[in-house]
Amino acid sequence: MEKSAISVKGLVKNYNGFTALKGISFEVPKGSFFGYLGPNGAGKTTTINAITGLANFDAGSVHVMGFDVIDDYIDARKSIGFSQQDLIFDPVLNVREILLFQAGYYGIEKKDAEPRVAELLKFFGLKESGEKNFRQLSGGMKRKLQIAKALVHDPKVLVLDEPTAGVDVELRHTLWNYLRKLNKEGMTILLTTHYIEEAEKLCDTIGIISRGEIVALEGKEKLVSSIHKPKLRITLKEPLKKAPKNIEKNSIIEREGMLIEVECENAEKELASVLTSLSEEGAQVSGINIVKQKLEDVYLKLTGEGNELDRL
Ligand code: ADP
Repeated sequence: MEKSAISVKGLVKNYNGFTALKGISFEVPKGSFFGYLGPNGAGKTTTINAITGLANFDAGSVHVMGFDVIDDYIDARKSIGFSQQDLIFDPVLNVREILLFQAGYYGIEKKDAEPRVAELLKFFGLKESGEKNFRQLSGGMKRKLQIAKALVHDPKVLVLDEPTAGVDVELRHTLWNYLRKLNKEGMTILLTTHYIEEAEKLCDTIGIISRGEIVALEGKEKLVSSIHKPKLRITLKEPLKKAPKNIEKNSIIEREGMLIEVECENAEKELASVLTSLSEEGAQVSGINIVKQKLEDVYLKLTGEGNELDRL
């Protein structure tokens, strides 16, 4: 049984002598919520175009649900729903017709498409708007319609390019809830986003691309902790003269001995032993914080100028 929903191997794309993708490889496991991140011009759209069959490539292979996007392109395309960043709809059709037409592109007959369209309108809270022209919809409703359109042929994999670009905070949260629900129901989702917070909240696996190369590919938690260890930040009632021996190595003492920071593998686990050591030194604790690094810190480190990939 194929474990990957999307499998990219050695993908190369050249544009007039410029190599936009330098032989990238990654797997998106079935059922995962994969965040594909990278700065402008890194190669995200080029990758997505190869996965969704919108553009060709020069070397490597791409499979969607086990189907080769070139040799088995019909099955590969049926397996994938793609929500583009730009909201493009036929101006003469109403909302329901937009979805029915989209189903038609996949060879689904109207009578079979109708129940699916009704289900999607309900799911996205667009039930009352089925007969409206898309111009009458709010920006948020258009965004939902765009995602519904990508789902009309009941694909196993959903690819979203910047699904919440330019939307307000409230709608962003609503869209997140829809996407979480879809993922929970078993759909594999790949999204690109400029909002690192979005990837942090939604995704379980992260791929980061920089200048046409994959620079990180990990489970989210592992990725974050592989770059920065969590820290225990402890404030004291009285200045500490010196750090206890067993925490001396990874600790920093600040504010004239009133604040101590200890780098740990697992801050929750090591908290008790650190507190015991401090109390043996006669230190009285007034506050404890566990400081975890964010995905954003990792992202900046990996994609920033003069990046420090060699440390990985
Ligand atoms: P991203 O989506 O991460 O912003 P793209 O995949 O759009 O990045 O672009 C990757 C690189 O390929 C960029 O340097 C971009 O300028 C270049 N590129 C993209 N499309 C074309 C094209 N049609 N012709 C020439 N260069 C292109």
